[in-house]
Amino acid sequence: MKLLITFSRKGGREPVIARIVKETGVLINVEKANIDSMAGEMLIDVPDEDASVVLERMEAAGVSVRVLEDAIVRDEEECIDCGACISICPQEVFSFDPDWRIRLHPGVCVLCGKCVIACPHRALSLQQ
Ligand code: SF4
Ligand code: SF4
Repeated sequence: MKLLITFSRKGGREPVIARIVKETGVLINVEKANIDSMAGEMLIDVPDEDASVVLERMEAAGVSVRVLEDAIVRDEEECIDCGACISICPQEVFSFDPDWRIRLHPGVCVLCGKCVIACPHRALSLQQ
């Protein structure tokens, strides 16, 4: 399960993720991070069965957590099944079905945004 976490660094530089990994034994995969001196935002991936305990620990540590069910959203009215998103996506989120219609596997999206820029019909957007 993918979780988008945001946190303030005003209170110091406590290694929240490292502490949660150590205390719970849950392996957390950091897929994207944007951290500066004041705040941070991270996209993390955790096993579905461990998501609730990680969520609980994060929130107890003052970290804001959002579950990303469908990180990338496709407007079916706008999509023309051109396949441009297939070639640009580094995570193989897109593929053709047997009828040459685009299908998505949003669970592996890392929110890089490349497909949103590449789509000629502006059919794609990232969950905000
Ligand atoms: S690039 Fe856009 S229009 Fe083309 S298949 Fe992907 S979502 Fe559809
Ligand atoms: S945001 Fe990046 S990883 Fe996600 S579907 Fe688009 S190209 Fe693939």
